[in-house]
This record gives sequence, structure tokens and C-alpha cells, in this order.
Amino acid sequence: MKVIVLGAGIIGTASAWYLNQAGHEVTVIDRQPGAAQETSFANGCQISVSHAEPWANPSAPLKILKWLGKEDAPLLYRFRSEWLQWKWGMNFLRECMPGHTADNIRQIIAIAKYSRKSLQALRAETGIEYDHLTRGILHFYTDQEEFDASLDAAQLMSELGCERKSISVDEMIRIEPALDGIRHKLVGGDFTEADESGDVYKFTTALASKAAAASVEFQFNTTITRLLKEGSGAAAKISGVEIITPQGRHQTLHADAFVIALGSFSVQLLQPVGIDLMVYPGKGYSATYTITNPTAAPTVSLTDDGHKLVLSRLGNRLRVAGTCEFNGYTRELNMTRCAAITRRTRELFPDVCDYDNPTYWTGLRPLTPSNVPYIGKSKIGNLFLNTGHGTLGWTMGCGSGRALAEIVSGRQPELDFKFTGMPYPFNHPSRSIS
Ligand SMILES: Cc1cc2nc3c(=O)[nH]c(=O)nc-3n(C[C@H](O)[C@H](O)[C@H](O)COP(=O)(O)OP(=O)(O)OC[C@H]3O[C@@H](n4cnc5c(N)ncnc54)[C@H](O)[C@@H]3O)c2cc1C
Repeated sequence: MKVIVLGAGIIGTASAWYLNQAGHEVTVIDRQPGAAQETSFANGCQISVSHAEPWANPSAPLKILKWLGKEDAPLLYRFRSEWLQWKWGMNFLRECMPGHTADNIRQIIAIAKYSRKSLQALRAETGIEYDHLTRGILHFYTDQEEFDASLDAAQLMSELGCERKSISVDEMIRIEPALDGIRHKLVGGDFTEADESGDVYKFTTALASKAAAASVEFQFNTTITRLLKEGSGAAAKISGVEIITPQGRHQTLHADAFVIALGSFSVQLLQPVGIDLMVYPGKGYSATYTITNPTAAPTVSLTDDGHKLVLSRLGNRLRVAGTCEFNGYTRELNMTRCAAITRRTRELFPDVCDYDNPTYWTGLRPLTPSNVPYIGKSKIGNLFLNTGHGTLGWTMGCGSGRALAEIVSGRQPELDFKFTGMPYPFNHPSRSIS
């Protein structure tokens, strides 16, 4: 079957790889000059099943209210006159109810664990190098109340299949000696030994090269303008996709099936063909520092829960990422937020990096209210979805690509997950599409 994948981030590239492996003829289209140039470019680089607890949880509404209007708040909602943002916000509040949160955690753990295993297999098969470290992820807490609240979440996640263990300060320092300098600030933590870290950009671009060598065609510098739909109801199908070529010409490409992997920009393309997805951009920041004192820098990937930051060692660089701003599609840097990241990292590891020359970046997380992505079939027969991976697109990327390739090939993926448009015992309102 001829399949066109729209988008060459981690999700589109992984989809293309597995579709090719399944025997399909695959073309990938992206407006950028290469793979992983937008949200999959400089993220936190954690493969973190241990982050399965979504932002939508019972404690979120109060925290968000407290942070309203604070320029350096970890999570900042800027109200806009934009219907999607308000509708998304209402759905988010519903997902904060305890029953919803537990169910969302279950879904996220299922796809994230499957994905971590798929990434490990892909790494062994292809030999791709991407500054990866398999030393686990350690969440640390400097606030007693936050730590006490985390014990229940860790317990719930363990019951649901994520091996996240609460540990003492001494154990934390044994696992990551670089934390010794802030021993007096630590109150406790938890450790997920099976989690990993690694450079998402290096991985995705290497996978794209391997896919190209295996006959996947990549059309870069190509803007997608429109999906062309014919027929209606059960007979509706996508007959082609309209693009603008690097030479500025309009063209229509045809295929048997189309996969939407456009991250935060999936919504705009789908609306005109009658598909409404609940995906809104959550702008996040990262800072990358050159490490000047390698023996004092952490090698275990860390999560600073109080400040909502993650830290990953990538060779001789330290990547620190996090924070979220709900403010439309703008990617401009807010220097107050950048400075807050550097201030906190310097406080944690004072003499470890060159903090005077950071590289700052922003990206738009494609967030669903529940943080459970849309993977599966749309209501249009030959149009498939792989989008809305929010805070965990790198963690869920390989598994989402592999599962999607199974679905396009007419098979049920071997994991217990609510795939969009596929049979499942429960109905999930925020992920149903109208
Ligand atoms: C600060 C930050 C930290 C993060 N940390 C982590 C982490 O530690 N671990 C983790 O698992 N996840 C993390 N994430 C989330 C993760 O980065 C995303 O979920 C993931 O990158 C989304 O991938 P994607 O392929 O869906 O989107 P993208 O990478 O954005 O890919 C979408 C592609 O579609 C293309 N496109 C869009 N519109 C068009 C158009 N009209 N025409 C042509 N091309 C188009 C874009 O060019 C882009 O290449 C983080 C995100 C941020 C912002």
C-alpha cells in the first residue's frame, strides 16, 4: 500500500520506519529542511514511563490558579480569545477528577512501556547512537509537602505497572553522587531504574537516514496546505494532499492511506475535513549547557519536581527542560522564564557547566487534556492519526509508530491501550472525535 506520513518529528519518523518494515511504500512530508526540527528538536530527552501521571490530576487546578500571572511559574495559563483554548481548558478540568486520572495513568503506562521496549529493540537492531544512558530516572523533592503527596502517586503507579520506588536521601545520593552538594535541601525521592535518557534529535535524524536508505522517500521544505476529501459518511476518503513544493508550486500527492503526525498543527489540517481533535500547544523551554566539570555532572537523568524541570546528560552537554505556557502557537523566548531555568540549574550544580553561554529553545507540546495521545483510525476510512503526545512524545514515540503501522496494516497492536477508532471496553470522551 502507498502511505503518506504528514510530519517528520519523532512520531512521523517512527511511523514511517515501522510502516516501511511492514512492507508499505512510504513518503514523508515536512515543511522543515530535515527531520525533528520542531518539538522533537531539543526536549528534555527522558524516556520516562515514570512521568505517566498527567498534568491533569486532582491537585492541578489549585496549583494553576496559584501560578496565574506569575511570569516564571512552572505552568502558566494565559487566557486568550480562542475557542479551542477554552474548550481544551474545560476538558482538562474534567480530566483532573481522580477516576479519570487513574485511567489516564493506566493508558499512558501501557503505551510508554511498550514504547520503551520498542526503542530498546530498535537501538539493538540499528545500532543508532544518540548519547543515550540507561541509568534510570530519579525524581527528587526539596519540599516536604510535595514529597508526601508524591508517595500516593508513586504507589498508584507501581500498582498500575510502573516500577517507581520511593527512596531515602541516602539512597538517592548513592544512585547519583552529583546530588551530594544539595543533600541539605533534599527531603526524598523516587527512582525508576528501567527508564532512560538520550538525544531525541540525534535519534530521530539517524532513524530518518536509515529509513531513507530502506527506500522511504522524504520530501522536506514542503508545506502541507490541505487534505482533499471525497465522498461522505462511511464512503468518505482522502483522495490526496495538497502541498507547496520547495520551488513554490502547488501540487497534489495521492496515496492509499494518510497518517497525521503534525504535532500541535494537526488540528488545523483536520478541521476542514470534519475532524475535531482536542490538541492544544503547551509551550515548553529548554536550556543546553556545555559541561565544564564532567565528574561532578549527573549521569542519572533527574526530575526536579518542585520546579517541574528535567535534567539529562547528553555526552558533554546538560539539557534542562520544562515549564509550560498555554499561549497559542508563538515560540518566542521569554527571557524571565529562561533565566529561571539557569538560576535553578546553577543552584543545583553550581560549578558543573558554563552557565554564561546557554542555548535556549522553545517547543510546542501537542497536548491533549488527558495527555493520552490519539493513535489509530479517524472516521475517514483511509486517514490515520498519530498525534497529541504532549509531554511524552519521545517516551511514547517508537511504540506509537509501531502500533500505528500495525493498525494501518489491518492488525490489532499487542497492547491494552485505547486506540482511537478501535474497539475498547470503555468510551473516553476527551479522545472521541466529532
Ligand atoms: C520543553 C519540552 C520538554 C520535553 N521533554 C520531553 C521528555 O523529556 N520526554 C518526552 O518523552 N517528551 C518530552 N517532550 C515532548 C516531546 O518533545 C513531544 O511530545 C514530541 O516531540 C512531539 O513529536 P511530534 O512528532 O508529534 O511533533 P513534532 O516534533 O513537532 O513534529 C511535527 C512535524 O510536523 C511538521 N509540520 C507541522 N505542520 C506542517 C505543515 N503544515 N506542513 C508541513 N509540515 C508540517 C513540523 O515541521 C514538524 O516537523 C518535551 C517537550 C517540550 C516542549
